[in-house]
Amino acid sequence: MPDQPHANRWTPFSFHKKERLMEQQTLRAWEQRCTQEEPPKCQAACPLHVDVRAFMAAMQQGKWKEARAVLARTMPLPGVLGLVCEQPCQTSCRRADLDEALRIGDLERAAIRLFPQREAIRPLPAKNVQVAILGAGLSALTCAWDLGKKGYTPVLHAPAGEWGGLLRDIPEDLLPSQALEDAFAQLAGLRVQRVEAPALNRALLDQLSAKFSVVYVGLDTPSLAGGPASLGLEPPAAVTWQSAENTFCGGFQTRTCIDAAFQGRMAAVSMDRFLQKVSLTAARDREGPFETTLFTSIEGLPTQAAAPVVWQDADTVRAEAGRCLLCECKECVKVCVYLEQFKGYPKKYARELYNNLSIIQGLRKANTMIESCSGCGLCEAVCPGDFHMGRLCLEARQEMVRTNKMPGSAYDFAVRDFEASVSDQAALLRHAPGADSSAYLFMPGCQLAGSSPAMVQRVYGHLRDRLPEPAGLLLSCCGAPVKWAGQQARFDAHLQALEQSIIAMGSPTIIAACTTCIDTFREHLPAVKWISMWEILETHPPEAAPVNRSFSLHDPCTARHLEPVRGAVRRLADRCGLALHEPRLSGELTECCGFGGGMESANPALADTVARTRASRCEGDILAWCAMCRDSLSRSGKTVHHLLDFLFPEAAEAPVCATCSYIRRGPGGPDRQENRRRLKRDLLAELWQERAAMHEDTSPVQLAPEVRDMVDQRRILLSDIRAALRHARETGRELTNQETGRRLVCHAPGTVTYWVEYSIETTHMAVYRIHRAWSHRMAISEV
Ligand code: SF4
Ligand code: SF4
Ligand code: SF4
Repeated sequence: MPDQPHANRWTPFSFHKKERLMEQQTLRAWEQRCTQEEPPKCQAACPLHVDVRAFMAAMQQGKWKEARAVLARTMPLPGVLGLVCEQPCQTSCRRADLDEALRIGDLERAAIRLFPQREAIRPLPAKNVQVAILGAGLSALTCAWDLGKKGYTPVLHAPAGEWGGLLRDIPEDLLPSQALEDAFAQLAGLRVQRVEAPALNRALLDQLSAKFSVVYVGLDTPSLAGGPASLGLEPPAAVTWQSAENTFCGGFQTRTCIDAAFQGRMAAVSMDRFLQKVSLTAARDREGPFETTLFTSIEGLPTQAAAPVVWQDADTVRAEAGRCLLCECKECVKVCVYLEQFKGYPKKYARELYNNLSIIQGLRKANTMIESCSGCGLCEAVCPGDFHMGRLCLEARQEMVRTNKMPGSAYDFAVRDFEASVSDQAALLRHAPGADSSAYLFMPGCQLAGSSPAMVQRVYGHLRDRLPEPAGLLLSCCGAPVKWAGQQARFDAHLQALEQSIIAMGSPTIIAACTTCIDTFREHLPAVKWISMWEILETHPPEAAPVNRSFSLHDPCTARHLEPVRGAVRRLADRCGLALHEPRLSGELTECCGFGGGMESANPALADTVARTRASRCEGDILAWCAMCRDSLSRSGKTVHHLLDFLFPEAAEAPVCATCSYIRRGPGGPDRQENRRRLKRDLLAELWQERAAMHEDTSPVQLAPEVRDMVDQRRILLSDIRAALRHARETGRELTNQETGRRLVCHAPGTVTYWVEYSIETTHMAVYRIHRAWSHRMAISEV
């Protein structure tokens, strides 16, 4: 039922209404949506959380010393554990979902053998607190290692012949005895003392418990094979590994070296907390293996099976390490030029943004980041945590406006363009000629009106002819530019006025040509009924002769959540005989053209890059169905058609000049405003036989095409140029170059100062020929 208006069922994001960005808690909730800083699966599965990803990155480059240093950051006795660890992390490797897990254990062993020199471990300053350790197996040595690093003085007790515990049973080719000797030398460097005990028994335990504040019992020592009961101890508690008031155990029922080391470490944490008199259990849920939430895409990656690692052959080592995906998410950064430009990811940006807003005085370094996002929502569409950078930036902009921190010039161009669209020079609200009510109200939006006024007239004529009920006309803007600028109060006032106007027309259904207008209705004016122009055209199609062309179809980003509208567009294109190719990022995942969200106003250079990037990702000629997308993408030099060009070819402007290779780039800012004014004037004259009361400054101004391009790129409107010329006429303040006769005038009507270089040519009449124009985003005061 395409003629039926859509219900506004969509739940709007109302974060800005209920919560204040400046509240740190809210920002933390945003940060948590981004999992980029979560560890990869291998690291999360490692009981000791070795940074396998950083290790692999070093190994890929053959940096053996660096790779060993990565292990040593987390691993106790790296020269030993690096050789004997049973690599439980390996079964969790993300690469296993693609082909085969990385051979993490083999690579760690290779790193230790390729760089066998033991590292210097620097302990914290000595605390002068001794801790007793019974046993000298791997768990006891780990406990000693960790406590020694923290500045304690561990005193190991073991019978002769038990130094190393079960490690001594490992064959020499797997664990050379020299590696164990080196480990003891490192322990000595950590102030670990060794005391030979004739026997490890209850008597010794009682003696040590009385003498030392805290005691560790390493059950993975042959003398303690009887377990805790043989010493009259309870089995150790989970998490804390506490067996009695000041006694902790580890190496309990361990079957692997890594488990023994893990238990020794857990006990060391508890012993440190015990000595510091803080909770033994608080915030320990991430000790030991856990499930990470880091997302890593393997889509489209080529498969490559693991190959044996021979440590003597560095090529095999590097090749296997090279299979590591260096897991990270950054799905949003991969698809968004804006996010990529700031060299980080949303969680980091959220922190920077918060800091930026918190600054009272000083440099607000993140202003450009806050101002430049187009708000296209692609990040949210690809993010497993639904992080929407655009909404966050919009909140930040609103906050900046509220606290007077928004530079006036940031959205100056977009806001003035909005003002021009809703001024009585361009805005119009009428029932159809001869009608006193409207079932529909055609709203082409400010961009189609500015870009293709002839097309607006043609489509409106078609709708009047074909719709069974009267269709009025609404020339205005939905207010998106002031919303993008963070001017919430102004946006709200505009919405209220817009809604009242629609109610005054009898609440007809809006036929919206622009998906940004639809977005505005969906999110902010749920009582307004709307339907897309494309759905109406599908049920009431024009009689256009099919043409045989093929295109890459570019969907506007505001159509991301408008599947029915996107469907209607595709069917209409098919009717026109157009063969469509869908770019990789299309439909719900479509990319921004660089115009929306105020990006073009706040960061024209980035907008240009975004437009060119999008165009380059579309094969061949491009078909757009948003006027601004068409005009933005054509900056790339590609041929970009609007779908309306094929539905109403008689009103189409060819994107390519018939006589030269010039590609029509769409009118620039100056012409858009003129176009909107002329559209109103022509429609009033043609349909309602009225003369528009235009207060136009019609002074004859001429700009060569290259000058027109220049002023457009510099976001200078024709009205700015005319205002500067008027200023010169009224004040007489201008400079004249005596050699060229050219004049230079400077005018600062607001936060931006305009400079115009011109000459007056008089043949039949005086004409202002503009040679150059530029602006500064500051008001220059004359002294
Ligand atoms: S897609 Fe982006 S925002 Fe989402 S988790 Fe990944 S890096 Fe973070
Ligand atoms: S691919 Fe590399 S970083 Fe990812 S889980 Fe496997 S070893 Fe770790
Ligand atoms: S430009 Fe679009 S995809 Fe990129 S951060 Fe902004 S809203 Fe997200």
